[in-house]
Amino acid sequence: MAMDDSLYGVRNKRGDWAPNGRREIAPFWAWPPQVLKILKWLPGYLWPWNCLHIATALLWWYAVVPEVSTLKTLSWGWPAWLLLVNWVANLAWYGFFEWRLYVRRAQGGRFKYYHKFPADQPSDVFWFKSQNLDNFLRSFLISIPLWTLVQVIFLYSFANGLVPWLSWAEHPVYLVALLFVSPAIHEVHFYVIHRLIHTPTLYKWIHSIHHNSVNPSPWSSLSMHPVEAFLYHAVALWHLVIPSNPIVALFQLHAAGFGAINGHIGFEKLELTEDTAMDSHAYTHYLHHKYFEVNFGGDGLVPLDKWLGTWHDGTKEGDRLMQARYERKLARLNALK
Ligand SMILES: [Zn+2]
Ligand SMILES: [Zn+2]
Repeated sequence: MAMDDSLYGVRNKRGDWAPNGRREIAPFWAWPPQVLKILKWLPGYLWPWNCLHIATALLWWYAVVPEVSTLKTLSWGWPAWLLLVNWVANLAWYGFFEWRLYVRRAQGGRFKYYHKFPADQPSDVFWFKSQNLDNFLRSFLISIPLWTLVQVIFLYSFANGLVPWLSWAEHPVYLVALLFVSPAIHEVHFYVIHRLIHTPTLYKWIHSIHHNSVNPSPWSSLSMHPVEAFLYHAVALWHLVIPSNPIVALFQLHAAGFGAINGHIGFEKLELTEDTAMDSHAYTHYLHHKYFEVNFGGDGLVPLDKWLGTWHDGTKEGDRLMQARYERKLARLNALK
């Protein structure tokens, strides 16, 4: 017995599956305030993904990151150690989802947005004609070293007192609040850099590499040009600007680095048992990979897409708005001719 995905969405003639319902922006933007809705939304905001990133941030701080006295001096040793751990962790994290859903194909095509698997579609745009190999190598040779560079920059800065380091004992409320807000910082940061690298020249030079994966899989998450890979992970450097703490900065980094899985997993639900599954939150960013011109930000925590007219909520109405916007753009371009 397997889960029946037709209860949750529809499959078209080609075999692409789309979830029912509408993607909603975070409920706290509504006026008047909808307290009940916010309370219902909160558990899904924290559990499981953000809790997991907090857990790994703590794990790194207590088990991986060297003593502050070591961090004070730049050397090859401790950054190399951090890179090694980041490689192993990414191999385990992304590798696990890739292996389960795309190699073993543990849930077949159930809840899968795109009807084909990347491995069945060799393409010239990728290194060795393989999306998997290309995405994997770009992540490990480019993105994860740059992720580590960002990590080294903020750990060195905190250790040397170049920026304020608030303690949990003295500022517990502020730091917990900052943890809560960090995913929103991520969305705004990501939206801004993402919009920037969608401008024609930068797109061709930088961001087209990430978009080669029209049908993304877990390895696609960090498959980026070096400029994008650095800017993407540099979200953690905001904690050198805002008074913060290295654990919060690590959370910010992990929510970006490990959290990229959520946009690229390609399945709406990850089946756990015969009748339970967890939500991937992947559809919003899947639509970005499909249509390019919508959903530049995240899941609507800070709904910049909605405010700026590029939100696609996954419905027919979302299609219509996108089409209308596209036609207006064409008309503007034609008027310039
Ligand atoms: Zn993407
Ligand atoms: Zn993009």
